[in-house]
Amino acid sequence: MSSILRKDPSRTIKIQKKAVAKVDARFAEFVVDIKASPSFLMDDLFFADVPEMESIELILHEMRTKMPILDTSFIRDAYVRGVQTSIQRLASSKLIVDPRTNTFFSASHRADQSKDLERLNKLKLENRTAYDGIRETMISATAAVLVTPGPLTEKKEEVADRILKIGATRTRNLVRSMAVKAAHQGQTSEFTFYNVDLVSIIVEEGKEGVCARCLHLKDKVFSLRDAEQLLPVHIGCRCSMKPEHILDTNSDIIIDTEFTSQ
Ligand SMILES: [Zn+2]
Repeated sequence: MSSILRKDPSRTIKIQKKAVAKVDARFAEFVVDIKASPSFLMDDLFFADVPEMESIELILHEMRTKMPILDTSFIRDAYVRGVQTSIQRLASSKLIVDPRTNTFFSASHRADQSKDLERLNKLKLENRTAYDGIRETMISATAAVLVTPGPLTEKKEEVADRILKIGATRTRNLVRSMAVKAAHQGQTSEFTFYNVDLVSIIVEEGKEGVCARCLHLKDKVFSLRDAEQLLPVHIGCRCSMKPEHILDTNSDIIIDTEFTSQ
């Protein structure tokens, strides 16, 4: 049992690493693509024949259309992991007697159900909004360079690298924090389904003191609602929840017809 808790499957490290590698690959392609383009950042040949404002418009258009689209499958993977974590923890908690918890019933199935889909779509939308913000930041940074070139102490390749770095770094951070959030939402969803009303906080104390900032929360009990608001505490927070109490344990589990399997 303790091994289940120690090997916390809600850890999103693998999912994050995979998604970050994808993001990096996309940006690498983008860099090659945009550097190969004759218009990128003040190419002398390009500018010779085209009026200045028009060239700027074209460059910005290129940024907008060629910026890599962010794949959101990592959000769903992290969410399903969160659901699985909760099922495991419920099974080992003995708070509930339900064959489904012992057979890991419907872990991935659940992520296709309407309430989970609603949560997932919300997460994806949030991710999309944040990513659009990153795109806009890159585009306005490019525009600033083009409209006000300033002293040309920085080579055009350096300017390009700086702008692309803004996008790649922020996108990486976004992927990391969204994966953690999705895993946490998956946990919350499953606990809600089983009427868990009290949870304690499991703080990850792994190498590099990942969640040193959260140590004061270790083993503290919160209502599920409060814990949902509390976690993740910070970017990269890997704290998770353990069920402590289920509301009205004497009555049968209320099975929402939306969640029954087909
Ligand atoms: Zn934490």
